[in-house]
Amino acid sequence: MKKIDQCSVCKTKLKEEKIIYTQKLGKEVYVVSGVPAAVCPQCGEQYLSTDTVDRLQEVIEQGEKGKRKPIKQAPIFHYPLA
Ligand SMILES: [Zn+2]
Repeated sequence: MKKIDQCSVCKTKLKEEKIIYTQKLGKEVYVVSGVPAAVCPQCGEQYLSTDTVDRLQEVIEQGEKGKRKPIKQAPIFHYPLA
């Protein structure tokens, strides 16, 4: 697999970082922290490897079925429009 080391948007060299990945599934929002990703320091674009994406889907699926317990509950706020 070819490793992405340059941002496809702005051509900046990417930095390895641990990110917080969120995914909405039905009514629930799943949050996975400590996800390894290549992040563009210029525009913030995030690149995940296919292995990482597969693993994330696995974690979220297990969480959905209750096989994996969340490490903590995070409060979710709605952005106020008024
Ligand atoms: Zn960029």
